[in-house]
Amino acid sequence: MYLSKVFAPRLREVPQDADTISGQLMLRAGLLRKSASGIYTYLNLGLRVKQRIEEIVRQEMDNHGAQEILMPLLMPSEPWQATGRWDLYGDEMFKLTDRKGRSFCLGPTHEELVTSVVGGERHSYKELPFNLYHITNKYRDEIRPRYGLIRSREFTMMDAYSFDRNEASVEVSYALMFEAYNNIFRRVGLTFRPIQADSGAIGGSSSHEFTVQAENGECAYAACDNCGYAANLELSKARPTTTPDTAAGSLPELESVATPGIHSIDEVAGFLAIDSCTILKSILYVADDKPWLLVLRGDDDINEVKLLKAVQARDGRLATDEEVLRILGVHPGSVGPIQAAMPVVVDEMVRRDVAYTIGAGKDDFHVRNAFFGRDFDAAIVADIRTVRAGDLCPICGHPLHTATGIEVGHTFKLGTKYSVPLHASYVDEDGSERPYVMGCYGIGIGRTLAAIIEQHHDEKGIIWPMSVAPFQVIVVPLNKGDDAVWHAALELYEGLQKAGIDVIVDDRGESAGVKFNDADLMGFPIQVVVGNSFLKTGNFEVTLRSSKTDKKAITASEAVASIADLVRTIE
Ligand SMILES: [Zn+2]
Repeated sequence: MYLSKVFAPRLREVPQDADTISGQLMLRAGLLRKSASGIYTYLNLGLRVKQRIEEIVRQEMDNHGAQEILMPLLMPSEPWQATGRWDLYGDEMFKLTDRKGRSFCLGPTHEELVTSVVGGERHSYKELPFNLYHITNKYRDEIRPRYGLIRSREFTMMDAYSFDRNEASVEVSYALMFEAYNNIFRRVGLTFRPIQADSGAIGGSSSHEFTVQAENGECAYAACDNCGYAANLELSKARPTTTPDTAAGSLPELESVATPGIHSIDEVAGFLAIDSCTILKSILYVADDKPWLLVLRGDDDINEVKLLKAVQARDGRLATDEEVLRILGVHPGSVGPIQAAMPVVVDEMVRRDVAYTIGAGKDDFHVRNAFFGRDFDAAIVADIRTVRAGDLCPICGHPLHTATGIEVGHTFKLGTKYSVPLHASYVDEDGSERPYVMGCYGIGIGRTLAAIIEQHHDEKGIIWPMSVAPFQVIVVPLNKGDDAVWHAALELYEGLQKAGIDVIVDDRGESAGVKFNDADLMGFPIQVVVGNSFLKTGNFEVTLRSSKTDKKAITASEAVASIADLVRTIE
């Protein structure tokens, strides 16, 4: 390919509306153009990278027993009605009506469709398990599309669906996909981490998010560098400190202290000159319309996902100030758990051997020397706090760190959540019909592309890993007007093409500075310069984009073989 012929308009300036490095670089390097909010056109260089990622995905999926199919993007409403998700999806789903008045949607995902396709056939247990995947676009009408390809309204996904006989065999299917995903993300050059995730409304026993650490990632997690434990913050746990019971007789007595106008934990800590971890916060919470009083350490925050699980509620919210006053008879800053009229949930980090300061249940007063177990009790003791950096790993006790990342892949065990309502069943050994036990597995192709750039760039531009680079090599003739230079460059270019290498030649009459800047911005892994040193010595200069300082001279006669060797060996 000649660079002058590639439609990849580059921008010198950083685009104003791109809110991530990857978004900026994709626009600047001419990979992508925005067509509407959250909707993009891939230009040739961007499409080349996307196709390389998809090819790696295909190879690994095929190698792990999955088979490619292609399902429609436009799908009828009926299977969605059957699972209840036609309404549950709400405004996020693009819905439309055909000329006969029949309802359709642009698929936000394909569980319903694949399950009805499989459910329409009569399958024997002998033919199980099988795993169907496709790579195609999805549509979600995000309220706020952001971060370029990371949260867009039209996006490309690989989604796979496994169909198994029972819970034991789905473990095997899941493990195969887990291995395929590890291979895929390693091969595209990402440093990533599979983290335990909440399977939430989708159900099932386990779920992992494959997360790429990135500053503006939307997914927060805690991880242990000692044993490898990693979990979404919604789910992650910390090892509680041990809490021996203390003999009641030896404990100091409750003591009431006036705290006029003092409300927040910080204010109480400052006013009484104590550490916020020895203060307990008491919070009125409404879960499925029922009030609960939550008690946790002053320096901790509630994790509502864990809390709702602990109280077995579907949804909940903090009580309003007005509700606190009406139900408890005090203002929020003085709420306390002693003689609470509603069930109390105490976080498991609250110790029984620490004299805590708590709200007195009376305006402008707090109580010192309150002991959990002596002065207040719990209906439920549970982990209801959000893990923080420095907490101890629940597996090995090493301090955890927290980070944010981009979720590039997700694996779920679905159980029979879709096969039951869609009547997708197989014929078992005893002749009975049983619902398939399913798994589903998704990879965001555009997100993966964006994540690769987030991890592989410098101030000059993108640094593509060899496995996904739009071109592996760029040949840069300086002074194209010099016949010897241009002919040598063309000969090298053609030689590399014959050797099966993806090569582009910068055939423009631009200055050396412009050519180097563009080559760096577009990030081709190997740059070969045909310039002054060629005229003097007959050598080309080879530079790796990843280590700009290492220039290597190669003779023209050995160039093709030695560059082909580099393409094979560098990552
Ligand atoms: Zn650990």
